[in-house]
Amino acid sequence: MTNFKSNYFTYKDNNLYCEKVSLLKLSEEFATPLFVYSKNFFIDRYKELNEAFSSVNHKIYFASKSNFNLSVIKTFYELGSGVDVNSAGEFYRALKAGVNPKDMLLTGVGKTDEEIRLGLEKGVMVIKAESLEEVYVINNIATELGVTAPVAIRVNPDVDAETHPYISTGLAENKFGIDSVYAYDMFVECSKLSNIELTGIDMHIGSQITKLEPFVEAVIKMAELYKKIQSAGIKLKHFDIGGGIGVLYNNESTFTPKEFSEKLTPIFMQLDAKILFEPGRFLTANGGVLLTDVLYTKTNSLGKNFVVVNSAMTELLRPSLYKSYHHIQPITKIDNENFKADVVGPVCETGDYIAKEREITMVSRGDKLAIMSAGAYGMVMSSNYNGRRRPAEILVDGSEYKVIRNRETFEHLVFDEEKHL
Ligand SMILES: *Cc1c(COP(=O)(O)O)cnc(C)c1O
Repeated sequence: MTNFKSNYFTYKDNNLYCEKVSLLKLSEEFATPLFVYSKNFFIDRYKELNEAFSSVNHKIYFASKSNFNLSVIKTFYELGSGVDVNSAGEFYRALKAGVNPKDMLLTGVGKTDEEIRLGLEKGVMVIKAESLEEVYVINNIATELGVTAPVAIRVNPDVDAETHPYISTGLAENKFGIDSVYAYDMFVECSKLSNIELTGIDMHIGSQITKLEPFVEAVIKMAELYKKIQSAGIKLKHFDIGGGIGVLYNNESTFTPKEFSEKLTPIFMQLDAKILFEPGRFLTANGGVLLTDVLYTKTNSLGKNFVVVNSAMTELLRPSLYKSYHHIQPITKIDNENFKADVVGPVCETGDYIAKEREITMVSRGDKLAIMSAGAYGMVMSSNYNGRRRPAEILVDGSEYKVIRNRETFEHLVFDEEKHL
């Protein structure tokens, strides 16, 4: 097993630490499966991105869908970040974390009337609309409430983000945003509506984008559209480039915020706009690990090895959903040879696995493993399938740590069902 390169998860005397806290100690104190996050990773990533764009008027809106624990949202909010919320549920979470609605963007390809009303009543900074029909609905609800709705329109720039098809969102064939061919006319049309204030253009071309070119191509296209709309007398103020910055899970080559800024800043400089960013994964993915115990190992007649662990697709869906790679390393280094194995969970699905045909140190019952890069799209995609309780989450800050969510109890699993028996 090679080690995942990280300054926040490092070995000391053969034991893996998150910052200055031993993961062995945490796994013994709180049991596994267990999510552990590095607060200083979150802080450093935010500052790195924020500072890379210090020469442009901008603001970061943390995409809470990547990790919506209240303490994680609060960590970014305290740094000056706004929050991108994707539903009434995420809105509720952000409110509970202490976020002022003025610092929220309301996103979503299929917002319900209830969600739009909530956004308008509470006064979110902007609602990002994804169809003409939706803008009409927002206008009607705003009229009913006697308010003017701040609306940005999400345009689909039709570029190939060259990422996994499930997380590519900026191709004309994808469901997101409105077709760039119709965008100009739509802005003109919407500018005539009584209770809509058009605030900006929004794009989000996909997630886990590791190449700069698609980003640059999309931003150039959108910048041209922005200028065209401005010159038609529609006064926009936001140019929102969405999220999607890719991170290192394995051996991808990614770009740094500095490289990102060097390419994009000259384009931004030509615009009379505040630049908005909506990163999720970049800020959280490599700030988290999922700790797990090896339950059993076995070898079949074909010579295939299985390592059965106590974490599953219910805690980390990404391998099952996208065939994603997550690095796995022992919490305590083991002086064994490597073998090739499928690392699988206890859930009754063939698709339930953490890693396939993975070269790892030969492990046995009781060994503890860290599944890396689990800070984004981990806990937020967890489920109770097979009657599994969602794990606890721990936030580490230097040599301190605290529980930011306890493991669910059996009562959580039945909710109010007993009342209906
Ligand atoms: C998912 C999403 C994001 C965040 O994406 P990341 O890849 O995690 O940075 C930002 N904006 C919108 C509209 C999204 O749907």
